[in-house]
Formats: sequence, C-alpha cells, structure tokens
Amino acid sequence: MYGAVIHAPGDVRYEERPEPTIIEPTDAVIRVVAACVCGSDLWRYRGISPVPNPTPIGHEYCGVVEAVGDAVTTVKAGDFVVGGFNPCDNTCAACRKGATANCLNAAQYEGCQAEKLRVPLADGTLVATPEMPADDLIPSILALSDVMCTGWHAAVSAGVGPGKSVAVVGDGAVGLCAVLAAVQLGAQEVIAMSRHEARQKVATAFGAKHIVAERGDEGIAAIQALTDGIGADCVLECVGTEDARLQASGAVRVGGSIGLVGVPHGDLPVEQFFWKNIGTKGGPANCRAYLPHLLELVLNRTINPGIVFDLELPLSEIAEAYAAMDERRAIKSLVRPNA
Ligand SMILES: [Zn+2]
Repeated sequence: MYGAVIHAPGDVRYEERPEPTIIEPTDAVIRVVAACVCGSDLWRYRGISPVPNPTPIGHEYCGVVEAVGDAVTTVKAGDFVVGGFNPCDNTCAACRKGATANCLNAAQYEGCQAEKLRVPLADGTLVATPEMPADDLIPSILALSDVMCTGWHAAVSAGVGPGKSVAVVGDGAVGLCAVLAAVQLGAQEVIAMSRHEARQKVATAFGAKHIVAERGDEGIAAIQALTDGIGADCVLECVGTEDARLQASGAVRVGGSIGLVGVPHGDLPVEQFFWKNIGTKGGPANCRAYLPHLLELVLNRTINPGIVFDLELPLSEIAEAYAAMDERRAIKSLVRPNA
C-alpha cells in the first residue's frame, strides 16, 4: 500500500509502505476514506521540529473497517469509523475522567496519510457511524479526528458558555473550529482574529459576530473596544507561538480565562497571567470524550466543520497538500487515497 513519509523539512513523499496488519488482538485495520494535513505536521515540514529519520506521517483519518482483532467488540468489518488523533483505551482511570488525551495506555498511529491504517485500541479509539454516511459529510466527519475536537477543547478549557464573550487567536482550521465550538456552547459573542479574507468568511459562516484584523497592541485595543473596554471573558489560543500567547493574555479580561490548544513553542507569559488573575487550561484535546456528541451534531447537520477544507487532492499529491498549507494557499488540505 501507499502512504506519506516525511524524509526531511519540505520533503514529504508518496511511497510504498508495508501493508498494516492486526498485531494486537485489540487492533483494527481500516481502509482510509479521507485523511488530512495538520497544522502540527507543518512544524516538522518547516524544520521547526526535527525529522531524524524518514517517518510515516499524519494523525487524522476516517475510513471503513477491514479487519479487527479477536478482542475487538464495538466495531466490525464494514463499519464506517472515525477516531481521534490519540488512540486510547477509553476504560482506564484517566479516560473514565474524560482525560482521554492522557490515556494511561495511550498508543500511536503509524502515519494516517495512507491507504490503510492499523488502529491500536480499536474499541476505545473508534466511533462508528450508524450507517454509511453521505459523501458530503465526509469532510466534517474527518474534521472530528482533530481540528473540531481541538477547537472544542479550547472552548471547554476556557469555560465558554452562555453569556460569555469569546475571542479566538489563530485563524487556522483549529481557530476556525474554535469559533464554531464557542457558538455551539452558547457564547454571547465570538470575535475572530484574522487578516485573511477566505478565513474571515469561514469564521463568519461559523457564527463569529466580529472580525478583528489588527494584531499586537492594536488587536488588543480592538478587542477591548468590543468588550466594555476590559477584554474578552474567554480567549481561545489556537496557534502555540509566544506571540499568540501574548496576544491571548492581552485580549483576555482581568479574571478571565484562556484555553490553550496550540502546541507550545516558547514560554508562557506567567507574570501577565498572575497579575491579571487569568486562568489557563488546555493541552491536547480529549477527542474520544467529545467524539460521540460532535459526531451526532455532524450527522444531524447541526455543524459543518468540514468547510475548513478548502483543498482536496488525491493522496498521491500529498507533497502539494503540504506545500499549499505551508504557503497558506490552503487553510487545510484533505486527501483521498482512492481519488
Ligand atoms: Zn485510557
């Protein structure tokens, strides 16, 4: 079978890889229907994170089960399934608290941008749809594998709820999904920070009431002007850079809270957090805990996070899928193995 392998910064190749098989009795093997490139894959593509060896890449997917191990009971061959980016057993003490991103028995995928994939801990990881979903729902189901759950996690971590003002830092797919999540969780108003027209349009489609194009002190002033001069109750930081966290700590009101879901590169402005009484929470999303609810919202067409995919390519053109995101020609690239 074929899949994507990153060899070095800027060098992702479509190449032959070993056919995945059932290794543990808790495994499933799935035929990938759609996969995508993550903003966090770009850390290695851009040379910010190291690539010591050629490595199969990708952690977002949905597909059809081909085979399951003897111990798997909740999914079967032929089921359409989606799983989060972090396989988990969904039964350990941490998972039972909803902390599925920190499963005590966590496992890893070996490159989801591929024709086939071995899913460890299949019973815990995978959620099946009741029937084969309509093709136009595939992008939104795929978005649940990471970006929509991560945007949701930002909003949950920041305590978004009815009556809250929310500002979102970051207009990548996660930031845009965070807008959608905040609206779904009942935020009174959501302010999206974005300078790019295509992304502003998605933010507005997801329910953002205001768009702030300015950054730095001007961006903070613009958010304060929209929030009684004090800043937003909740700020969702969906980038991970030091600049983004400074933007978030400037945009949040005194006593407010920040949801952090951008993979951190650089320090936290702890002094600012302290003197403004800011609460922070966040980390990798508890996808498995959120999946059943979010899948229902997608299947009944309440939410459509799949519109963050503005480029669709065959898996064989994975190099272009990365280049388009790297050069910001695409918000997020979807790839289909059998296109
Ligand atoms: Zn667990």
